[in-house]
Amino acid sequence: MSTGSDADTGVRPAQPPAAAEAPAAAGGPRRSGLGFARRVRTLRTVGFALGFLAVGSVLHQNGAHALVWTLLVANAFVWPQVAYALAVRSAQPYRAEFGNLLVDSAMGGVWIALMAFNLLPSVLLAAMLSMDKLSVGGVRLLARGALALVAACLVAAAFTGFELRPATTMLTIVACLPLLVAYPLAVGMATYRLSRSIRDQNRTLAERSRIDGLSGVLNRGHWEEVVSNEFQRFCRTGHPVSLLMIDIDHFKQINDRHGHPVGDQVIRNVAALLRETLRGPDTVGRYGGEEFGIVLPDTDAHGAFVIAERIRERVAGAPLARERDIRGTVSIGIAEADVALSDVGEWIVRADRALYRAKALGRNRTVRADAAAEE
Ligand code: GH3
Ligand code: MG
Ligand code: MG
Repeated sequence: MSTGSDADTGVRPAQPPAAAEAPAAAGGPRRSGLGFARRVRTLRTVGFALGFLAVGSVLHQNGAHALVWTLLVANAFVWPQVAYALAVRSAQPYRAEFGNLLVDSAMGGVWIALMAFNLLPSVLLAAMLSMDKLSVGGVRLLARGALALVAACLVAAAFTGFELRPATTMLTIVACLPLLVAYPLAVGMATYRLSRSIRDQNRTLAERSRIDGLSGVLNRGHWEEVVSNEFQRFCRTGHPVSLLMIDIDHFKQINDRHGHPVGDQVIRNVAALLRETLRGPDTVGRYGGEEFGIVLPDTDAHGAFVIAERIRERVAGAPLARERDIRGTVSIGIAEADVALSDVGEWIVRADRALYRAKALGRNRTVRADAAAEE
């Protein structure tokens, strides 16, 4: 008995062997398939060892043949390791493991017949094996597992002459308890670990989708969301909040002279300088090619001007690419939110206009939207 899913990728293999391909994960499908096989081995080892007690108690009472005992020992203690070895050696560990899971069910069916349908352990085996199939491969694998179990059970029962001794003794009830209690706990723990790993991965993915791949700051969409939230906060509370729009001067020349990859490096370095210069609550985003936006909560235009000048001076004084001494400057437009703004878009346009005034005035300078205050 076993269960497991793909904690490496956070994706459950939802279909049984024919269609189940290992989902692509970091390190490739084979690696994640091996992780799956490892988790299944742990649970199969636990489940089959506990199953040995339940089935063994019935065999003991029924005075089973030594051959049947040998089969039980092999099934309970050797099979989990063999199954793992088969999965590990396979080119497609997922597919191999699904096959193993069906073998688990078939073996369960054989034991139900060899126990002469002793009621409690038979129901217990069928229930635990169904739980496995359902958690790993959904209803489709459950149906296949049930088919394997019933078919193997009928064949084995034909050998025993359909012997029927359903009464369960107290000894067998007690022998079933470890499987009944411990196995669902082990499966629950494995499922919990898996769901935690999926949650972590989803968080990472969500985080990645917010970030601009080249510069490492927020992408435009998410930055605009932050700006919009800050604008709403301003409308509610009236606390000052300012926007900076920052554009690298003559960036086209950098691209033309040094090539696009070096241009990319310059964008990355300017973004890094912006991040280093900012305070905790400030949020920087990449607004366009070589244009960045920064929202500064609790900051009026005067405070924003001080910050903008600090940024401008830092950029002007820093080398902007590795190996080559590339210097560059930025122009910055500032707009503090005020009650005359009809919406957040108008706020951004206002900061952008100030930026283009800074360009028109000769670049490498900061301009405030609300005044002729220029530098
Ligand atoms: P100005 O001082 O007026 O801002 O001049 P500029 O040359 O910086 O401005 P312009 O808008 O004419 O050129 C921006 C250039 O940025 C054009 C475009 O090819 C380049 N660019 C946009 N995105 C990227 C990028 O991701 N990487 C690189 N290397 N270049 C980019
Ligand atoms: Mg530019
Ligand atoms: Mg530009």
